[in-house]
Amino acid sequence: MGSVKDYFSSLGKGIVSLVKGMEVTGKEFVTPKITERYPEDREEMKIPERFRAVLELKYDDEGRHKCIACGICERNCPNGTITIQTKMVDTPDGKKKRKLDNYIYDLGSCTFCQLCVTSCPQDALKFSNDFEQAVFTRSKLVKKLNYLPEKEEPAPTPEQLAKAAAEREAKIAAAKAAAAAKKAAAAAAAKESGETQSENKEK
Ligand code: SF4
Ligand code: SF4
Repeated sequence: MGSVKDYFSSLGKGIVSLVKGMEVTGKEFVTPKITERYPEDREEMKIPERFRAVLELKYDDEGRHKCIACGICERNCPNGTITIQTKMVDTPDGKKKRKLDNYIYDLGSCTFCQLCVTSCPQDALKFSNDFEQAVFTRSKLVKKLNYLPEKEEPAPTPEQLAKAAAEREAKIAAAKAAAAAKKAAAAAAAKESGETQSENKEK
C-alpha cells in the first residue's frame, strides 16, 4: 500500500515540477528577445564602420584601384598574409611598367592589425566591416583582392609623349657626354703616364 502512495506522491511532484518548468519556458517564449538575435535581424544590423572584418582594395567609380604593386604592405605584414604578384607591361609611350597581377590575401592568418593599410603610400587599402566571412574550407579564406577586370590604361596625351621623348633624348645625350668625358680622362691619363716615362728615361 505504501508503494502506491509513494508512486502517486512522486507523480504529483513530477507534474508540479513539469508545470513550473513549462511556466518558465512559456514566459521566455513571449518575452522580447534581447540577445542572440542574429541572423533574424541581419537586414537591420548596424556594424560599426570601424569594425575590421576583411581587407579590400579601394575601387573608384570606374572600377580602378590605386595599388602600384610596390610591395610595402606585403613587407610590413607580420604574418605573411599578403602576397603581391606583379607583371611587366608595355605602356603606350614605349616604356616598361611593373603592374599588379594578383593581390592575394589570406583572411585565415590576418590579425587585423591594419599595418598594411596604414603603411600603403597610395591609400589603396581599407578594411570592410562585412563580417559574414564564414566558409567551410580554409582555402576559401584566401582571396584575390584585385577581382575586377583590369581597366585599360588611358592613352598618353601629346604632351606626355613629347615629355617622354625629351626625357629619352636627354638620357642619350647625358650618356654620350659621360662616355666622352671618360674617354678624354683616359686619354689624358695615358698622355701623362707617357710623359713621365720619357722623363725617367732622359734621367
Ligand atoms: S596596396 Fe599599397 S602598399 Fe600594397 S602593394 Fe599596393 S600600393 Fe603598395
Ligand atoms: S591587417 Fe595586419 S595581419 Fe592582416 S594583412 Fe594587414 S598587416 Fe597583415
